[in-house]
Amino acid sequence: MCSTGGGPDVEINEKVKEGEGKRYRCGECGYTFSSLSRHPICPSCQSEDVEQI
Ligand SMILES: [Zn+2]
Repeated sequence: MCSTGGGPDVEINEKVKEGEGKRYRCGECGYTFSSLSRHPICPSCQSEDVEQI
């Protein structure tokens, strides 16, 4: 960090943009991704065994 002014040191968390899709996690490989599809498929292993997170 190059902070020299003593500003707020806020840790930036990963955000999910609204309207960009929901977050899912693959039940096969554990890969997490976002998708707009109602029946998303894991982009990593092509599994349909995904759950919304
Ligand atoms: Zn997967």
